[in-house]
Amino acid sequence: MAKRALIIGGGLGGLFTGAILAKEGLDVIILEKNRTIGGGLQSFKRFGEVFDTGMHVVGGLQEGGNIRRICQYLGIWDKVHAKAIPSECIDKIYIAEDKHYYEIASGKEQYVDSLSKYFPHQHDNLVRYVEAICRIVNEMDLFYLRPSSRDMFSHSEEFNMSADGFIAKYITDERLRQIVAYINPIYGGCADTTPAFIHATISILHINGLSRFAGGSQRFADTLCDSIKSRGGKVIVGDGVQHIHTDGRNITGVTTCNGQHFTADYYISDLHPCTLISLFDTPSALPKAYRSRLQEIPNTYSSFLLYLKLKPKSFPYLDYTGFYVQGYDRIWDIGSSLMVNGNWKNSKCEAFLYMTPPEIDQGPFSQKMIIAAPMTWQVVREWECTTVGHRGSDYEEWKRTKADELLARMEEMYPDFRACVEDVNSASPLTIRDYFGTKEGSMFGYAKDCKNMALSLVPVVTKISNLLLTGQCINLHGFCGVPLTAINTCEAILGRNYVINKINSHFQS
Ligand SMILES: Cc1cc2nc3c(=O)[nH]c(=O)nc-3n(C[C@H](O)[C@H](O)[C@H](O)COP(=O)(O)OP(=O)(O)OC[C@H]3O[C@@H](n4cnc5c(N)ncnc54)[C@H](O)[C@@H]3O)c2cc1C
Repeated sequence: MAKRALIIGGGLGGLFTGAILAKEGLDVIILEKNRTIGGGLQSFKRFGEVFDTGMHVVGGLQEGGNIRRICQYLGIWDKVHAKAIPSECIDKIYIAEDKHYYEIASGKEQYVDSLSKYFPHQHDNLVRYVEAICRIVNEMDLFYLRPSSRDMFSHSEEFNMSADGFIAKYITDERLRQIVAYINPIYGGCADTTPAFIHATISILHINGLSRFAGGSQRFADTLCDSIKSRGGKVIVGDGVQHIHTDGRNITGVTTCNGQHFTADYYISDLHPCTLISLFDTPSALPKAYRSRLQEIPNTYSSFLLYLKLKPKSFPYLDYTGFYVQGYDRIWDIGSSLMVNGNWKNSKCEAFLYMTPPEIDQGPFSQKMIIAAPMTWQVVREWECTTVGHRGSDYEEWKRTKADELLARMEEMYPDFRACVEDVNSASPLTIRDYFGTKEGSMFGYAKDCKNMALSLVPVVTKISNLLLTGQCINLHGFCGVPLTAINTCEAILGRNYVINKINSHFQS
């Protein structure tokens, strides 16, 4: 009889973990509280258009890329509609204070050249900086899907230094230091606490080349779901786990909101760990110190999101991600810059990202745009006790103000932009919290702190013998990090390097 793995949560982490375990012969059940599978990959329909929840600029899908290889091993690569972002310009940064644009290219040499165009005297420093990024990422066997023989991981001094300290070590020009840090909203970065390895990992994904999901990220979630079902697994949606029952340090079963009861050999949580511990019927099943630690770890910031339906043929399709930042000195505090005169609510959106998601048959014009403005939880705290659709007129008014601010900023770059907009929908950190069960609507889960690495590193194994963790709070976040963490989770069941060896032998056979 195949061992049963019950996965709580059908986000990217739950789906990858389920797809790998189903491929390796386990009997997989996924329980997802929302009616649609995918978590942060979910798409939704508004004004007759399908919008992705997030921006989903994704790395690791290029030829030989780690996530592409995992998809090939799972046998789903031919169903992934990835659209490569042209290498000449993957990201375009606009600094409002001097109305200056910076275009960033992918490819190691091209990346250096694209920045040297603006900072010619920093060329050699940029070369050394990119080499250092590669060295740091090379310390992570998992990133390159290499089997690991190490019991203890020891890393170079640079690996765990602060991201801004690492940049400053190589780049001497103050302004260029700010520009190479533009990427920090992709990892919820803080200058002096985010470790260099997080900055290096996200940077290398951009340097190696980015893609987008043509036709929406939901297709990718559905493909993983189909892969699980085709191997005999079950994916149950619209029925979340309400109670986890325990006997000592062992889970004996779970009960869903609709009263269904499930038992399994392994229970795997894809939830934010703080959401997970609230489901235990006997909280003391997990040691108090462990629970306290999970509650204490700070979370990365959240985001205010605008989903715009654009008028037909009014705005071009942009194949790069746009970054708007008020001033050079704001680049590092994009997510924490919103308190003005001690007032969170009326603070201005001084930085944001924007992108036009591609259709399957993308033409020269965009049908829609997503704008994401990093925002801390404090901004919406006054409505934290409200639920979706019942937050009150002051909240709706506040959202309208934020939307107006962002549209005004867009007009600084694209005069008359508002005339291109047909409909506006918005979401706040509260929306992210309530749809995905993520503490404080955090975009990327737990924040890593180079001054206290022990606090922010949560292993996949837990104090409960048959409970494992997966998802963005464990190890690395994002479209590339979460599948790699899923490998760690699966190997806690299947044996060290089991999945990695399978992936590699898939390419040798
Ligand atoms: C606005 C935004 C933009 C982003 N943009 C990018 C990007 O461009 N590139 C990138 O790489 N990453 C991006 N990310 C991050 C990326 O989306 C996440 O790292 C990833 O999707 C997290 O996957 P996960 O499985 O860990 O968590 P989630 O996707 O949050 O999945 C958790 C799942 O658990 C379910 N759940 C919660 N409680 C229960 C319960 N009691 N019972 C059952 N199910 C439950 C939730 O409904 C959800 O489906 C973005 C995130 C956000 C919020």
